[in-house]
Amino acid sequence: MNQVDYLRISLIDRCNFRCQYCMPEGAELDYILQQQLLTDEELLTLIEEVFIPVGFTRFRLTGGEPLLRPRVVELVEAIASLPDTQDLSMTTNGFLLAPIAQQLYDAGLRRLNISLDSLNPETFDKIIGNRGRSQWQKVWDGIQAAHRVGFDPLKLNVVVIPGVNDQEVLDLAALTIDRHWHVRFIEFMPIGNDRLFVGNGWVASADLRQCIRDIFGLTESFVRGNGPADVFQIPGAKGTLGFISQMSECFCDRCNRMRLSADGWLRPCLLNETGQIDLKTALRAGVNTAELRNQVQQLLLMKPEINYKQRDAGTTGAYSRTMSQIGG
Ligand code: SAM
Ligand code: SF4
Repeated sequence: MNQVDYLRISLIDRCNFRCQYCMPEGAELDYILQQQLLTDEELLTLIEEVFIPVGFTRFRLTGGEPLLRPRVVELVEAIASLPDTQDLSMTTNGFLLAPIAQQLYDAGLRRLNISLDSLNPETFDKIIGNRGRSQWQKVWDGIQAAHRVGFDPLKLNVVVIPGVNDQEVLDLAALTIDRHWHVRFIEFMPIGNDRLFVGNGWVASADLRQCIRDIFGLTESFVRGNGPADVFQIPGAKGTLGFISQMSECFCDRCNRMRLSADGWLRPCLLNETGQIDLKTALRAGVNTAELRNQVQQLLLMKPEINYKQRDAGTTGAYSRTMSQIGG
């Protein structure tokens, strides 16, 4: 059984983008009210007195868009400076990154995943639902700033949608030839926008690999790291190519993570609400952290069974909550 030591923490469910694959078209989302968000103090208490003592040592800050969280640099610094934090990373859309990349690095953040679904500003704006001035350049500036500051590894996440950005896979893969970047292709999941999923479908990682292999070649051997990505390389490239294949391949068996939503729900599985715990309400009701540790430990024990059920269910159903709400 995998050791579950990795917690993805959603700092906020709101986002300044409205990516087609992440959010439903047109419909308004029910955002978490400010007073329902975990405060910085509550979050730090949970990390220090609940999660670290039960064995979590690696934390990823996500959202919604984590850089929209007020005082995010201070929060990064507080989490990074906990003696038992072994790894602190963030997933961001990069739009607000350029001016604070150095501050985040100085605060102790070392690893960044930035979403970049297209190299074409027009396609990019279409994907993120922007009708105004193009936003692509600001994201690209954020990526360049992160590179200059020294974030390593620097990972770029691409969700591949047929008919939207699948024709750019080779260009995106080519970014790794001269740069020490890791481009990761993520299979589109039916979370967030069912219409797009049913209409356009999804592309299997194996097909993407074949297409890249035909043009650039691809190392046959791959590294299977701690995370869900299978990692390959274009021969001679500085960077790598990762493939996250949660649709074509079930990796519940090697799942090592849980998710904490911005309003304090601890969720053992992305695709399954079984067993989730409302830690914020418990904390505010005065339940002590020893009792919360106990509850989290019970949930850790249940996780293999929850994974097993999810594995049997497959990952082809549609889910009512979006990635931005769950904490992607
Ligand atoms: N806003 C940040 C960002 O976009 O990087 C962090 C939150 S976002 C929910 C985290 C990751 O989830 C992104 O890499 C995004 O591409 C991915 N994601 C969102 N909806 C998805 C879907 N339906 N299928 C696959 N990946 C999805
Ligand atoms: Fe926002 Fe990230 Fe979802 Fe795009 S994928 S809408 S940037 S939360």
